[in-house]
Amino acid sequence: MSSNNPGFATLAVHAGAQPDPTTGARITPIYQTTAYVFQDSDHAAALFGLKQFGNIYTRIMNPTQAVLEERVAALEGGTAALAVASGHAAQMLVFHTIMQPGDNFVAARKLYGGSINQFGHAFKNFGWQVRWADPADPESFAAEIDDKTRGIFIESLANPGGTFVDIAAIAAVARKHGLPLIVDNTMASPYLIRPLEHGADIVVHSLTKFLGGHGNSMGGIIVDGGTFDWSKSGNYPMLSSPRPEYGGVVLHQTFGNFAFAIACRVLGLRDLGPAIAPMNAFLILTGIETLPLRMQRHCDNAMKVATWLSKHDKIAWVNYAGLDSDPNHALQTRYSPKGAGSVFTFGIKGGLEAGKALVGGLTLFSHLANIGDTRSLIIHPASTTHAQLTEEQQIAAGAGPDVVRLSIGIEDPEDIIGDLEQSLARI
Ligand SMILES: *Cc1c(COP(=O)(O)O)cnc(C)c1O
Repeated sequence: MSSNNPGFATLAVHAGAQPDPTTGARITPIYQTTAYVFQDSDHAAALFGLKQFGNIYTRIMNPTQAVLEERVAALEGGTAALAVASGHAAQMLVFHTIMQPGDNFVAARKLYGGSINQFGHAFKNFGWQVRWADPADPESFAAEIDDKTRGIFIESLANPGGTFVDIAAIAAVARKHGLPLIVDNTMASPYLIRPLEHGADIVVHSLTKFLGGHGNSMGGIIVDGGTFDWSKSGNYPMLSSPRPEYGGVVLHQTFGNFAFAIACRVLGLRDLGPAIAPMNAFLILTGIETLPLRMQRHCDNAMKVATWLSKHDKIAWVNYAGLDSDPNHALQTRYSPKGAGSVFTFGIKGGLEAGKALVGGLTLFSHLANIGDTRSLIIHPASTTHAQLTEEQQIAAGAGPDVVRLSIGIEDPEDIIGDLEQSLARI
C-alpha cells in the first residue's frame, strides 16, 4: 500500500497481503500444509524456543491465517491478532489466558445464547465463574467485582436484541478496577464500531458472521489492543511469570504490547488446539474484502425492513436501534452512526404460534441458526438458539417466547419486504 494512513475500505482489501514472493500469485494462497521445513537444527531450536518467529506446525500458525490476522488487526486498530476455528474457540482462549481455577469474570447478561451457555456451563468445568451484570447499567458490573475478578466481557451490539452498549462507560469501570475489557464485536463488525477506540483492551469475533459474510466457513479471532498492563497486578501469571516450557521467557516482558495475542497462540492454541483451517482463513479473507460494501447494504436494508414492520398491524413491536423511537437510538447514533446493523427482533401479535406460521410461510428468507450471511435469515430464538435457557434467562437475553429474529441480507429490499408481506397476509 502506498498511503501511510490507508482508509478502512483499502485496508479491507489489502492489509496483510502481498503478491506471493515465489509465484507472483496476487491472491493470498491457501497454504494447505501441516508443517514447514526447518533451515537447520539451530533454526528449529530458535523457533521452538520463541527466539525467532516462524512457521512450525499449522496448529500454531499458517501463512494464510497470518494474512487474515494482520487484516483484522488493522481493521480493528489492534497490535496483533490470533485467528482460530470459531468464535467460541476465540472466547475460550481469551479466558484460558487470563483465568486460573477459582477466578471469575463479569459478563453482560445480554449475549449470544451460545456464549451464555459456554460461560455458565463449560467454563464451570475449568473452575472459572461467570457473574452477570446489566449492560445498560455500568455500575452493575462494578458491584460484581472482587479480588478474584480477572476481566469484563460485553458485546458491542448484543445478539439477538440488537441493543448497543455504552462501551466507554463500562471501559471506565474496567480501568478503575484494573481489569481488561473484552468486547465481542461480531454483530457490529469493525465497519460500524471499533471497540478499542472506546477503551476496550481485547476484541473477539465470530468470523463466521459478518466478517466472512457468506455463510460458508467457521472462524473466530482475538484482537490484542496492546493497551493492558498484564504485569502490574500479578493476577495474570500466564503473561507475567516465566514460562518453563519456553526456557523461562516472560511473555509480557518479551512481547510487550502484543503479548496477549502471543500468549493466546503459544499457550492456549498450542495446548487446546482449535486451529482454523487454511481454506476457511482464505474464504473469510475473501469475504472481508467487501465488508464495507456489504455492511452498509445490510444496515440500509434492515432500516427499510424495520420501518415497514413497525407500521404493520400484525406486529406488536420492533426492536431496532435505527428507528428514531427506539430507546437505544441515542447510543446507536453515538457509537454506530453508519447504521444499526442488520440483526434485530420483533414481536408478532399472536405470540409463539403466529411466529411459527410467519417463519413457515416465507420463501426468500432461510430459517436457520446463523446471522451475517448475504442472504436474509429468520429464526425463533426461544425454540432454537436460546432453547437451552430458562424462560427467565431467555427474557433477560432479549429472546422471550414471542420474539422473532431477523438477519437482513443484501438482496433487493423490495423482495425482502415482499416475502414478509405475503407470509404475514396469510396469518
Ligand atoms: C455466533 C456468535 C458467537 C460464536 O461464534 P461461532 O463462530 O459460532 O463459534 C459469539 N458471539 C456472537 C455475538 C455470535 O453471534
